[in-house]
Amino acid sequence: MPSLQCTSCGAPVEIKNRFSKVFVCGYCGTHLRVTDEGLDITGKHPKLAEFPSILSVGCRGTILGKPFTALGRMRYDYGGGHFDEWFLEYDGETAWLSEDEGTFALYTEMEEAEEFPDVTSVRAGQTVAVDGRRVMIKEKGRARIAGGEGELSFYMEPGTEVVYIDGISEGKKISIECTEEEIELFTGRVLLKRDIVVEG
Ligand SMILES: [Zn+2]
Repeated sequence: MPSLQCTSCGAPVEIKNRFSKVFVCGYCGTHLRVTDEGLDITGKHPKLAEFPSILSVGCRGTILGKPFTALGRMRYDYGGGHFDEWFLEYDGETAWLSEDEGTFALYTEMEEAEEFPDVTSVRAGQTVAVDGRRVMIKEKGRARIAGGEGELSFYMEPGTEVVYIDGISEGKKISIECTEEEIELFTGRVLLKRDIVVEG
């Protein structure tokens, strides 16, 4: 990747991961789409409010003994709170780490769900079939994208409404995010705080 500059404020931009599709300028808050030709402005949004977290964009460490770098994060607001999803380079791959009031889950498999029941009718307690696997629904809620920071492989414009569904399938944690355009399915596991070691 050649050296890049924020097309809004001129700050240097370094894209670390080849899967990154969007970069949020840390200086001016402009959201930049990463293309083969360079950077395109998608919009300018206020920076995320800082809340205490063990992670920060750019931090490194280990999760379950394997190395990670935090590349970016997306924040979701729901009635009365928020949760963050950290985009990680993890052991040579990419992963998402969700953080919700000090509770962490690591999602290492992501796919677009092809076959999914009508989202509006899905309820907690039900078991539904998703692409041939049985998913027990634990929680369903609505959230709104609050914004992003750093570089991201998966991006939605702030303000976008998302239906999120948490479930379990074959002992693994399933997180499903539904927008009007697509349904993404993440497979992962719950982490204990001691599973995450941040350097420095
Ligand atoms: Zn900028």
